[in-house]
Amino acid sequence: MYVVMITSECAPVAKVGGLADVVSGLSRELQIRGHAVEIILPKYDCMRSEEIWGLQVSYHDLWVPWDGGAIRCTVWFGFVHGNKCFFIEPHSWQSFFSRGTYYGFWDDPLRFAFLSKAALEFLLKANKRPDIIHTHDWHTALVPVLLFETYAAAGLPHQRVCHTIHNFAHQGVTGTHVLHAVGLDRPAYYGAPDRMGDDLDHHAINLTKGAILYANFVTTVSPHHAWEVRFTDLGCGLGNTLHRHQDKFGGVLNGLDYETWNPEIDPNIPQHYNAGSIDKKAVATQALRDRLRLRAGERPIVCYVGRLDAQKGLHLIRHALFQVLANEAQFVLLGSGSQHGINEDFWHLKRRLEGNPDCHLEIGYNEELAHLIYAGADILIMPSLFEPCGLTQMIALRYGTVPVVRSVGGLQDTVFDWDFSELPLAQRNGFVFEHPDHQGIDSALDRALGLWRNEPALFRQLAVQGMAYDYSWNRPGQSYLDIYEFIRHK
Ligand code: ADP
Repeated sequence: MYVVMITSECAPVAKVGGLADVVSGLSRELQIRGHAVEIILPKYDCMRSEEIWGLQVSYHDLWVPWDGGAIRCTVWFGFVHGNKCFFIEPHSWQSFFSRGTYYGFWDDPLRFAFLSKAALEFLLKANKRPDIIHTHDWHTALVPVLLFETYAAAGLPHQRVCHTIHNFAHQGVTGTHVLHAVGLDRPAYYGAPDRMGDDLDHHAINLTKGAILYANFVTTVSPHHAWEVRFTDLGCGLGNTLHRHQDKFGGVLNGLDYETWNPEIDPNIPQHYNAGSIDKKAVATQALRDRLRLRAGERPIVCYVGRLDAQKGLHLIRHALFQVLANEAQFVLLGSGSQHGINEDFWHLKRRLEGNPDCHLEIGYNEELAHLIYAGADILIMPSLFEPCGLTQMIALRYGTVPVVRSVGGLQDTVFDWDFSELPLAQRNGFVFEHPDHQGIDSALDRALGLWRNEPALFRQLAVQGMAYDYSWNRPGQSYLDIYEFIRHK
């Protein structure tokens, strides 16, 4: 099969969060299974170009119809960790992808509508005829709409689209000017409530709603979240639309890239280990302490790695930090955020705790430090308010770090409580709590710290059990292939 991914992120070259990992990991898995995969993404000025091998111009003058005129683009090609990537570079005064950062601009809907349009234009002009186009989140949600409304007639009649929604909190709710820019010139038609008209804001269009209508199949990133978005308010207004299209909607648990996340070969950790030699994890713990100037001694390290976003339960992370310190344990946070207020709060907290030998807050994005934390910590917390899938807890499991998570979305599908799970004892792998409040997280964290302290052999066993789980792309890769095969013949 020939699959093209159209995306705003791809790890490690352009990564903000899990979306990037999913695109690169799934693409690699499909390639290993013998399928041809290409990835189309923007040529951001801020991307990590050193991660691209053999970057060269692939298509010189791609004229993309835009806003009544056209924008000239150069399309570049290069390999990113074995994945074939095409980078779209528009030459225009809007500097869509030359802004020093990935997201956060007033015209984000226009920027990514442009990516969607340019990617299809590239497929058309470069004579690429994939069997499947796989789009991701609101950024590329216009692709299925444009494909079936415009590009099918222009020369892409057989292509089928699978659209994955990674985060329902961001749907691309915007004005009809975006439709005009991409050449969908009947705003009353496209913006009608039974098409892309947003269900909550009647003056707006909703790009994700468009993808649900037009794509041949829609997935979200875990089975439990697929249920939540239909039957609870976590669908953020899209529940009804999903009900209407339930026969082409499902949840596929994300996989982890087991090459990138593997304590047996990870170049970012000082000592390799596996489930059989988990005691060597102590070397990473020591390295982490040295690097972050934490005091040595018999204390467990509790960590948080992730975006600093309200979604992640920031008030609970903050609360956990003080609980951990009060319990004579250590706390390490690596967090990156795009919201000024949130970043300020954490900088304030960092200054307040400056010099504390049991605590380190690193604010910013640091891939390499993330690896060392996963390997060096004992416990990882993830008290998310909602979590479509969550990769962080799966990475922790892979590194023998015990996750303490809230029972929501993909966390519920992947972490099974040591004391209360219905699974056999040998299959339990972490600690889970229900309510997103202080008592909730305390109940789980206290049990985790208690086990570490009072029953070290059992804690070790729990960590080893977590490492035995297979959260690689093996199974989800097959699920996506089944979906592709199903829609290909429709
Ligand atoms: P989300 O997609 O909501 O950001 P996930 O848990 O699905 O959350 O994926 C997060 C991914 O991003 C993981 O690979 C995690 O290690 C990485 N990550 C998040 N924040 C940082 C950071 N500040 N530094 C390094 N890696 C980070």
